[in-house]
Amino acid sequence: MPDLTFDKLHEECGVFAIYGHPEAANLAYLGLYALQHRGQESAGIASSDGRKIHCIRKMGHVADIFTPDALNQLPGELAIGHTRYSTTGDTVILNAQPLSVACNKGQIAVAHNGNITNAAELRSELEREGSIFQATSDTEVVLHLVARSRERTLSAALRDALLQLEGAFSLVFIAEDRIIVARDPHGFRPLAMGQLELSDGRTSYVFASETCAFDLISAAYIGEVAPGEMVIVGPEGVTRERYTPAKAPAQCVFEHVYFSRPDSLVFGRSVAQSREMMGRLLAREYPVEADVVVPVPDSGVSAAIGYAAESNIPYQQALIRNHYVGRTFIEPSQAIRDFGVKLKLNPVRHLLEGKRVILVDDSLVRGTTSRKIVRMVRQAGAREVHLRISCPPTISPCYYGVDTPSQNELIAARHSVEGIRQYVEADSLGYLSLESLHKAVDDKNQRFCYACYTGQYPTPLVQIEDLAYSKC
Ligand code: SF4
Repeated sequence: MPDLTFDKLHEECGVFAIYGHPEAANLAYLGLYALQHRGQESAGIASSDGRKIHCIRKMGHVADIFTPDALNQLPGELAIGHTRYSTTGDTVILNAQPLSVACNKGQIAVAHNGNITNAAELRSELEREGSIFQATSDTEVVLHLVARSRERTLSAALRDALLQLEGAFSLVFIAEDRIIVARDPHGFRPLAMGQLELSDGRTSYVFASETCAFDLISAAYIGEVAPGEMVIVGPEGVTRERYTPAKAPAQCVFEHVYFSRPDSLVFGRSVAQSREMMGRLLAREYPVEADVVVPVPDSGVSAAIGYAAESNIPYQQALIRNHYVGRTFIEPSQAIRDFGVKLKLNPVRHLLEGKRVILVDDSLVRGTTSRKIVRMVRQAGAREVHLRISCPPTISPCYYGVDTPSQNELIAARHSVEGIRQYVEADSLGYLSLESLHKAVDDKNQRFCYACYTGQYPTPLVQIEDLAYSKC
C-alpha cells in the first residue's frame, strides 16, 4: 500500500456546540462540515429534546454520516458535535465522539479537543474504584469523573472533574437542558463563542474550535472562552465563571502555522494574517533570486502569498491538489516512483519549466514528502528548487493534542538544516526563525506555546505511558 499520508502533523479534532436554536442538529452538522479539516476519521452529533439526549456517531466524513434521515433522528434545540482524527490502532467507533453517560446527574455527553495528559493515571484510579471503561479515549475519563463526583449539581460536578485534569482540553458538554463548555487553564486549544439572532427575537449561542464554523451559519463572533473558564448556557441564560485561575498562557502556535483554516479567527487573531506575515518574514530572512513562488497546497498558500508580496517575485499555483483522494488506494503492481504524493499533487509543467522556483510549505516533519515534492517540481522542468518553511524546525513531539511523530522520526531533531537540505534534494532550504514566528502571530505577551520548536514545554513533562491514550 502506498504511503498516502502527507509528511505533515495530523489534524486533530474539532468541536461545536449550539444552544437555543430550533434546528440545532442541522446547524451542528453545518458547523462540523466547516471543521472537517480538523479530523476526517469519525464524526458525531448529540442533541437534546429537553428530556433525552440523542446521539449519532460514526466513522467517516461529516457529509456522509449526517444524511437528512440521520439529522431527523436528532431533535431538540441544543446540540454538540465533534469531528475526529486519531492514530492507527485507535480508529474504533467506541472512541468516536460525543461520548455519553447516564448518571445521578442525569444524561450527559461530551466532545473534546486536546489531550488530557494525566488520563492514564486518572483511569487507573477510577478502575481501582470500580469504574468500567468502554473506550481508550482520554475523554471517557472526564465522564467518569463527573459521574463519580460527590457534588450534587451538574455544574459543580463538572468543576470538580475539570480541576482534576491536566493538559490540553477544550470541552463541550450537553445535558438535557443545557450546554456547558470549558477550556483548560493554559488555553492550549481554541474555543470561540458566537451568537445568532433568531427571527422570533431569541438569541442562540454557539461555540466552535474555529470561527469558520460561525460563518457558514451566519453567527456573529463574540470572543474566546477564556483559559480556565466555564460557560453555562441554560434556561436561566448565560453564566460565565472561572472554575480555576488561568495559568501561564500556552495557545498552540501550530493552530496558526498549520491546523486552522486561513478564513478563521483562532485565539482572536486572523490565521490568514499570521500566515501571510510568516511568509513575508521568511522572505526577509531567506531571500533568493528566483522566477516564481509556488505554494505547497493548501496550507502553504497564505505564506507563499506573503513571501511573493515581500520579495516581488510572481506567485503561481503550479502544484494542483486533488482533494478527493481516499485513505486507501491500490498501487499499480508496476512500481511508480513517488506514487502516493502524485495522487495528491500534480505539477503544472508550463509554469515550472526552466524556472528557478521557491517552494513554500508550512511544515517539514519527516522530510519524506518534501523530498518527493522537490523531485516532482524538478521533474516538471524547474531549473532550481529553493524550499522555504514558514515555521522553525520541528524538534520535539507535542503532548497537547497534536499528533506529532515521535522524536526520532522528526528529521530536524536528528539533522542540521544543511543535512535536511541534502535529504530533501533542494538547492537551498530556509526555515522561519522563532523570533519571526513570535512576530507573525503578534505574540508580545508570551501567550503562545512553541514547545515543538523549542522542546520547552509549558507544563511538567508527562509520563510516556500516558501517551498510549488516543487523544483528540
Ligand atoms: S507543542 Fe507545538 S503543537 Fe503542541 S501545543 Fe505546543 S505549539 Fe502546539
